[in-house]
Amino acid sequence: MKVSKISIFIHFIRHRFSRYFRSNKISISREKIWNKMLLKSPFYRDKIIKKEHFPLMDKKLFMENFDTINTVGVKKEKALDIAFKSEELRDFSPTIHGISVGLSSGTSGNRGIFLTSKSEKAIWVGAILDRVIGFSIKRRKIALFLRANNNLYEAVQSKLLSFTFFDLKTSVDKNIDSLINLKATILVGQPSVLMEIAKAYKKLKAKVTFKKVISVAEVLEDDQKEFLESVFKCQIDQMYQCTEGFLGYTCRKGKLHLNEDWLKIEKKYIDSKKTRFHPVITDYLRSSQPIVRYELNDILHEGLPCECGSKSTVIKKIEGRSDDVFRFQQNGEEILIYPDFFRRAIISSSDQIVNYCVTLTHEKRISLYLDTLSTKSSRIFESVTSEITKMLLSFGVTDIDIIPNDLEQNQMSKFKRVRNEYSKTI
Ligand SMILES: [Zn+2]
Repeated sequence: MKVSKISIFIHFIRHRFSRYFRSNKISISREKIWNKMLLKSPFYRDKIIKKEHFPLMDKKLFMENFDTINTVGVKKEKALDIAFKSEELRDFSPTIHGISVGLSSGTSGNRGIFLTSKSEKAIWVGAILDRVIGFSIKRRKIALFLRANNNLYEAVQSKLLSFTFFDLKTSVDKNIDSLINLKATILVGQPSVLMEIAKAYKKLKAKVTFKKVISVAEVLEDDQKEFLESVFKCQIDQMYQCTEGFLGYTCRKGKLHLNEDWLKIEKKYIDSKKTRFHPVITDYLRSSQPIVRYELNDILHEGLPCECGSKSTVIKKIEGRSDDVFRFQQNGEEILIYPDFFRRAIISSSDQIVNYCVTLTHEKRISLYLDTLSTKSSRIFESVTSEITKMLLSFGVTDIDIIPNDLEQNQMSKFKRVRNEYSKTI
């Protein structure tokens, strides 16, 4: 599916305009087009005729009503068939009636399918150019460390922008010489991979040529951001994107903003203090498969308004996903502990911790991996264990075994420091 440069350029201009002039509201014309589009979806047309409220959507309801939600007449069976074959053959070019089919991450029985038309792709690339890569009349080289090459980047390949794809199947060590020789201006990758690259640059004392580093796919933690800034000496931007949409970007002041010029975001608070919420998104630019009041299970914290001029909501932090929340049963009551409590307990135990991974593996068992600068790792392990036990106790959770564990990490998969592998109940 070839997306034309002209169409990308038009969308780039539109995105730039709406970012400057309507950063936190959907324009009337956009709303009118969207209302008309929604009538093409049998699922929503029915709700509009009956004057019913649009339901809160999640992956399960979305997939159950796949055939009637989409506006392009694609059947779920056919879409699934194409999506699985594409993944198996690593060939993502097949389409149905000119529509591409993508799979969202998740366990095999719980994966979502997402349809994208050619014009939606042009809209997406235009948005990435406006908010993430930025415009410059200088020639720029972009190094992409991604799980799969996205041929959409090639659509914007030009004299001003060139993209080099580094496959994550090959280790960072093997790619590092080519990366240094490339003298790239922009580096894109997930935080765990960016960390490996930064460590290698530091060790080799390699000359840093990046003007911008963009973190994608995983939660970027504060200590990682600090380390990356110290090695790369530039702003570390985040691109907040999932299969359901391109949600947010870092502005010139370093704050993560939501794209509220085309996304309507309802906040579904999940804790009593109203500090954490799930974003419920309605996307005014998706048309082949309307995304209406779709609840994501990312846990977000809202920040203060930004000085950059954009009025769109600032996200102080992406804490993780609701699947990562630890759930304990204590005296017949369920107690939820959010990932940040573990992060704080671990980081406050010692300043020698470089990386860690804490996993709930059983009802009463947590495994803990620590990578430390110090040789006294067993003492640090004890102090972290005691800090976690204290934190658990403050929630009324007792009798939890914390056992040391090695880290088995595949570069191709997402890295999470706080993981719940036991109680997937949400
Ligand atoms: Zn800002």
